[in-house]
Amino acid sequence: MFHKHGMMALGISILLAAWAVAAPPHKALIVDGQNVPSHDWKNTTPVLKKHLEATKLFTVDVATSPAKGEDNSGFKPNFAAYDVVVSNYQGDLWPEATQKAFVEYVNNGGGFVVYHFACAAFPQWKEYNEIIGLGGWGGRNEKDGPYVRWKDGQIVRDTSPGKGGGHGPMQPFQLVIREPNHPITQGLPEKFMHVDDELYGWLRGPAKNLTVLATAFAPKELGGAGEHEPVLFTVGYGQGRVVQVALGHTPKELYSVAFIVPFQRAAEWAATGKVTQAVPSDFPTADKATVRQ
Ligand code: ZN
Repeated sequence: MFHKHGMMALGISILLAAWAVAAPPHKALIVDGQNVPSHDWKNTTPVLKKHLEATKLFTVDVATSPAKGEDNSGFKPNFAAYDVVVSNYQGDLWPEATQKAFVEYVNNGGGFVVYHFACAAFPQWKEYNEIIGLGGWGGRNEKDGPYVRWKDGQIVRDTSPGKGGGHGPMQPFQLVIREPNHPITQGLPEKFMHVDDELYGWLRGPAKNLTVLATAFAPKELGGAGEHEPVLFTVGYGQGRVVQVALGHTPKELYSVAFIVPFQRAAEWAATGKVTQAVPSDFPTADKATVRQ
């Protein structure tokens, strides 16, 4: 009998050990629920979730707000329970208590990843704009802060008047790393191709404590500003770590490895301040994009 119980206890502890090894260490929350019709959040969020779970670093919850114009006073995600929040949200202003909880979360060291059009959310919310560093659309212009671009070998803040946010038609573009010593970019090739996607440009905002990790050149003949636009950058806000990943207009573009890898590394860095993920063998080269099915 003793032996039988002993074996059972051993079996249970092996199961517990296996569970402890398998349980992802970090908690991520994706926020969605509204966006402009061209941003299919119902079908992009599951892909974002899948990419986070594929790292085996995150369990992922999704907080979906009420639809546009509906009463959102009960929308109160428990941000503080997470290591990283990923926003796939653009829409109605959150209730005051939710705004306050979010700012406190980031200020106290929470991680935040701004995905694609989340940079257009909340033009009227001062702290949100400080947290995201650069934003676009929603009436943003020179009153909201400078453009930040790569010019003549350095990052330049440009306060000239003009719109905040814009892009030409879908086009393939190359990302160029401008800060190779950051955990998110360390070990990645200097230049790598992305698939056809929207190339966000003319972003502007407070741009405080902002580090541009990668830019992409937006040619005038393809609807761009003729500038090297920031498409991957970090912002420090209080104790919090924020990363903006401008890529990924529809679910299709989210399968480009030039999106997946920076996104996965951004989430880990935002959550922990470190990146433990190896560079995968299917990483794109300077002239050829790669896609994961
Ligand atoms: Zn888009």
